[in-house]
Amino acid sequence: MSRNQQLFEQSQKFIPGGVNSPVRAFKSVGGTPVFFRRGEGAYVWDADDKSYIDYVGSWGPLILGHAHPEVIDTVYAAAKNGLTFGAPTEAELEIAELLCRLVPSIEQVRLVSSGTEATMSAIRLARGYTGRNRIIKFEGCYHGHDDALLVKAGSGALTFGHPSSAGVPAETASSTVVLDYNDLAGVEQAFGQFGAEIAAVIVEPVAGNMNLIAPRPGFLPGLRELCTRHGSVLIFDEVMTGFRVGLECAQGLYGIKPDLTTLGKVIGGGMPMAAFGGRREIMQCLAPVGAVYQAGTLSGNPVAVAAGLATLKLVQVPGFYDKLAARTRELTEGLAAAARKHGVVFCAQAVGGMFGLYFRETLPESYTEVMSCNRDAFNGFFHAMLEEGIYFAPSAFEAGFVSAAHGDAEISKTLATAEQIFARE
Ligand SMILES: *Cc1c(COP(=O)(O)O)cnc(C)c1O
Repeated sequence: MSRNQQLFEQSQKFIPGGVNSPVRAFKSVGGTPVFFRRGEGAYVWDADDKSYIDYVGSWGPLILGHAHPEVIDTVYAAAKNGLTFGAPTEAELEIAELLCRLVPSIEQVRLVSSGTEATMSAIRLARGYTGRNRIIKFEGCYHGHDDALLVKAGSGALTFGHPSSAGVPAETASSTVVLDYNDLAGVEQAFGQFGAEIAAVIVEPVAGNMNLIAPRPGFLPGLRELCTRHGSVLIFDEVMTGFRVGLECAQGLYGIKPDLTTLGKVIGGGMPMAAFGGRREIMQCLAPVGAVYQAGTLSGNPVAVAAGLATLKLVQVPGFYDKLAARTRELTEGLAAAARKHGVVFCAQAVGGMFGLYFRETLPESYTEVMSCNRDAFNGFFHAMLEEGIYFAPSAFEAGFVSAAHGDAEISKTLATAEQIFARE
């Protein structure tokens, strides 16, 4: 039995499902999850010392690759001064100023420890600011595991949301209206029905939690216009896209200013840190200034902030995102060409440093379309690539990530391996 298998068996005795976050368990693709021991640049090593080119990057944070020396040194230095104070520090001011300068719509920002906390707090803030309860979200978008957001569509377009997890009260879910991504007409209809009750629309400006779905032209501007017209708060959940698709995040890429933005993943550089921020008038509703309560013992943790600052410093190097986007496109275009050559039904796309792979004819634009991908074909491809030392996300419904540490050698090896696998199909 391999060490990975041994560890997985033991872990299941002490940890539900053997994992601390469900997608890690390989349930969607089958087989034994790989236990990681160490990472460096574009590579990770498992418990059996096998190496992989990593296209997951801890689900997005590791835009500089694993264990970037400058980030690690900064973290060491910060740790030596103490792990936490529960009091303000100068580094928090530094990262807050930086986020306000880099992200077009953020005038004030508050730090938290996870993306889930950021979206949960942004929703509470939007409700407190507007004095309204209802929120709109889109099927297939993931915003963390807050009760109000673990909601799926009911039957019929405009019925109230149903809990997508046991333990979420139906009353909580029923304040969330769940609509189809990219369907602006549906949003117009919902505003027609509930306009004055809608506190917020929360959206991933590029959906990255149902594989990758790009916004149709007009979708994001339409949301902006409807929210402005009805006095609702537009929340861009940029926990994944923030500093992943560009230096000004997705809102810079598409030229839309949301009222609130949530950030996470890249801004923590691999440490538990996230943030929410936006218009000053709204942010001023937060305690201790305003009436919306929000807090955290480890919020703005000095070691996490140090990792974030080191990461954000390096992504500001001129040309960083052009290079990252070009490399990511090289991967997706190369994979699509290899599939075409061998008659495999497949397509792929990249947005900045994130990408989607789809075993279907055309790029999906909705949750329903993405669900029609050939799952068996993906699972076969995933395991064949894994065997050859290339680690993609263990699910057909997750986005992939390229880091600045992925060079020509890694992309070439990935494409050559994929071509061999497509040739066998
Ligand atoms: C990852 C993610 C979250 C949740 O962040 P956690 O740090 O895992 O709680 C929220 N929204 C989006 C868009 C994400 O990709």
